[in-house]
Amino acid sequence: MPTQHIYWHTTVQMPDDSNLTSIPEKVDVAIIGGGYTGLSAARTLARNGVKAAVLEANTIGWGASSRNGGMVLTGLKLGMQSVMKKYGRDMAKSLFQCSLKSIDTVEQIISEENIDCGFARRGHLLTANKPKHYDALKEEVEFMEREFNHKLRLIPRAEQRSEFGSDVYHGALMDECSGGLNPAQYVAGLADAAERAGATLHARARVTRLGRGRGAGGFLVETERGSLSAESILVATSGYTGNVTRKLQQKIIPIGSFIIATEDLSDDLVKELIPKDRMIFDYKHYLNYFRLWDNRMIFGGRAAFFPETSNTIQRSAEILQREMIQVFPQLKAVKVEYVWGGTLDFAFDMMTHVGEMDGMYYSLGYAGHGVAMATYLGKTVAEAMLQGTIKEHPFNLFPFPLAPLGLYNGFPWFLPFAGAWHKILDWIE
Ligand SMILES: Cc1cc2nc3c(=O)[nH]c(=O)nc-3n(C[C@H](O)[C@H](O)[C@H](O)COP(=O)(O)OP(=O)(O)OC[C@H]3O[C@@H](n4cnc5c(N)ncnc54)[C@H](O)[C@@H]3O)c2cc1C
Repeated sequence: MPTQHIYWHTTVQMPDDSNLTSIPEKVDVAIIGGGYTGLSAARTLARNGVKAAVLEANTIGWGASSRNGGMVLTGLKLGMQSVMKKYGRDMAKSLFQCSLKSIDTVEQIISEENIDCGFARRGHLLTANKPKHYDALKEEVEFMEREFNHKLRLIPRAEQRSEFGSDVYHGALMDECSGGLNPAQYVAGLADAAERAGATLHARARVTRLGRGRGAGGFLVETERGSLSAESILVATSGYTGNVTRKLQQKIIPIGSFIIATEDLSDDLVKELIPKDRMIFDYKHYLNYFRLWDNRMIFGGRAAFFPETSNTIQRSAEILQREMIQVFPQLKAVKVEYVWGGTLDFAFDMMTHVGEMDGMYYSLGYAGHGVAMATYLGKTVAEAMLQGTIKEHPFNLFPFPLAPLGLYNGFPWFLPFAGAWHKILDWIE
């Protein structure tokens, strides 16, 4: 059995809680959550002379930011054709531009801060599980070029062996703009960068209560390690959003995603599996995503819908190994050494949202697209806080919906039904 441990954590010294910094009495901005969103915002605020404190319930980088697949992707979770239908051409163009800028931002921060996390623009592949998916990919390539002047490439089934050592797919779409990195090395580097800029980072400082401060404006923030007052709050809690920010919790569905990592593979096998080191994911609702790192296959999926527990992780290990062997029969005898899970944040419209609610700023709803987007929105929401322009932020220009009929109070009782529904969709679509 693989160990239930996050493989990425073996590749870097993660920030720990051995030296807890005391909670300051007063800051300009208290940031709740120490992942890409919170740290990127903290870095920007501190570089602009703002006193910013990151309050993290666990250890810095503990959440999805050190557990993910490390794919730095163009676009949003919702396909751009759907975004255009729903919000119009101008809005779709502006949001797609943000997605391109988000990758530039990751690249720029890594270069400015000298973060050693293996970032490279390797490109991503979206594979067709059925022949009709390939027809949809063809349409997507034409649409993206026509509407966004964004060039994608089709890889027909006959040529796909040049991209991956598998015959289960019916061709793929390739986007050269996307990249890959080691997520834990990246979040650890981002934490160092935020600290160097002057922000303070506080592990084991779960925020337990938020109240209005005395006098005009401001907040009183209670944490497990003491209270502080803050002029502003930024909520950066993604899939781990809890009832301290209840109104946001009611708008976000926490969904589990799980990953296995194999033992070291031979160079020859690695060259056969993904010779160009691309980031790959398939077309299904219950999707699989995979890539290589350091000669290991990193293979993920929504194997269970509920967030990570010892049980869901254990079950996912078996499901993912089976799925990995279906895609790559070459890995049948290979040992799976690690399995872990993390929680994604889905809004009811599958869109990312930023804004201000009850005087608190927020950025969340990345739906599995947060490596680049959380970095970018952390930075641009911080800039909007400084300039008072959050209302004009492109991700604040459309509604942030509640559950249909208000049938959700933060406990995702419907996940088993949603999971079953997605399996049906994968069967018929
Ligand atoms: C298995 C998996 C694979 C993924 N793969 C990819 C991928 O390949 N590409 C991609 O783009 N995205 C991927 N994602 C999504 C991506 O990791 C996230 O979108 C991104 O990390 C979100 O960053 P964040 O800083 O907003 O949240 P997180 O990194 O989740 O951080 C939120 C933090 O808030 C803290 N917190 C919660 N409540 C409180 C409180 N009351 N007080 C203090 N702290 C609190 C939590 O402890 C947590 O550390 C994946 C996610 C998972 C789980």
